[in-house]
Amino acid sequence: MSTDKMFGEYGGQFVPESLMPAIEELTDAYERYVLDNEDGFMDEFRRRIEDFGGRPLPLQHAESLSERYDTEVYLKREDLLHGGAHKLNNALGQVLLAKYMGKERIVAETGAGQHGTATAMAAAHLDMPCEVYMGETDIRRQRPNVFRMKINGAEITPVTTGRGTLKEAISETMRDWATTVETTHYVIGSVVGPAPFPRMVRDFQSVISEEAREQVQEKAGRLPDAVLACAGGGSNTMGTFHHFVGDDEVGLYAVEAGGSSLSVDEAEGVAPNSASLSTGGEGVLHGARTKLLQDSHGQIMESHSVSAGLDYAGVGPELAHLVDEDRVDAVNVDDDAALEAFHRLSQDEGVIPALETAHAFGYLEEHHDDLGDLVVVNVSGRGDKDLETVLEETEKRDLDVAPDMSVLRDAAGGGGM
Ligand SMILES: *Cc1c(COP(=O)(O)O)cnc(C)c1O
Repeated sequence: MSTDKMFGEYGGQFVPESLMPAIEELTDAYERYVLDNEDGFMDEFRRRIEDFGGRPLPLQHAESLSERYDTEVYLKREDLLHGGAHKLNNALGQVLLAKYMGKERIVAETGAGQHGTATAMAAAHLDMPCEVYMGETDIRRQRPNVFRMKINGAEITPVTTGRGTLKEAISETMRDWATTVETTHYVIGSVVGPAPFPRMVRDFQSVISEEAREQVQEKAGRLPDAVLACAGGGSNTMGTFHHFVGDDEVGLYAVEAGGSSLSVDEAEGVAPNSASLSTGGEGVLHGARTKLLQDSHGQIMESHSVSAGLDYAGVGPELAHLVDEDRVDAVNVDDDAALEAFHRLSQDEGVIPALETAHAFGYLEEHHDDLGDLVVVNVSGRGDKDLETVLEETEKRDLDVAPDMSVLRDAAGGGGM
């Protein structure tokens, strides 16, 4: 296997023979259109992510947090991207690539629904039919995003195997793709899957650090001491880190979901966290060798996080490699810390973050003393999608910073947010 399919010992193409033609065709298209800008592909991507997506996005000085931590804190505002999260950078890039490849149909998987929503929007924008595979459990949990996808014209196919969540949805989408490669492109949602997906998704997301690196030097006069991003599969993470990886003086922190505990229950096959970088072992999932939550027999365990978008048993192979090389610090915070950070950012800065994003701010709260004097945090998405979860989870706990939400509970009918 040539090195560019690998990141050290991670990555690769662990797929059934039937998928190889699709992978080879995609590799060729990635090299020609993305890396070599054939037919002006990257120029068109940049024009569309500006006009349709709203880029460039601000790097905002966070005044209250800077004062609280006695550290200059800057927010990279990916929550302001069209659709409310960084996901569109990748979805738009891949749907456009499918057009250039002459494909006629898009398939995608989604867990929390954010990637499915971004893909459905990009497909509507570029006039491509789109089918989204989604676990039955997730369809029930994520109704607003199911609505958004349907309204954008996507077809939703429920996946009933296993626990009916993201892991099964990815497997089902790969099965579809293997039988429809001639006409179809699979828009994967993070820096995971077989090569060339991890590199390609990173390249589309790296627009985040391309902007942020310039903006921080313009505003603060130098490179930051630390860059923080939450990590599920790791696409906002790699996008935020990519252009800083060569800057040895910049610390890179991938903040995972510590869930309710870092310990695992082997008998139940459950890890009450999604901290695959911090606690996982090496194995193969969805076409790549990476760090995974697995039991001592190599069985993949169910993950858990209060934030649906971080709830995944694997992580991108490049991140796993950068952690092994000591270039990226794998850290985590638990559900409670993420919820408190959600409320703090909302109250102090007027920015309601996604629960995924809130993990990065939870880490800032706990470790700001160790991060230096200038910190950039990626706000991967906005929190509107999480309000029901936040209401429910906040009431269960005794948090330091939560507002009194009884007016919502007491209102007639309740629950009508
Ligand atoms: C999907 C999502 C994530 C996690 O995905 P990554 O690939 O790790 O970036 C993080 N934040 C938000 C807002 C998301 O929607």
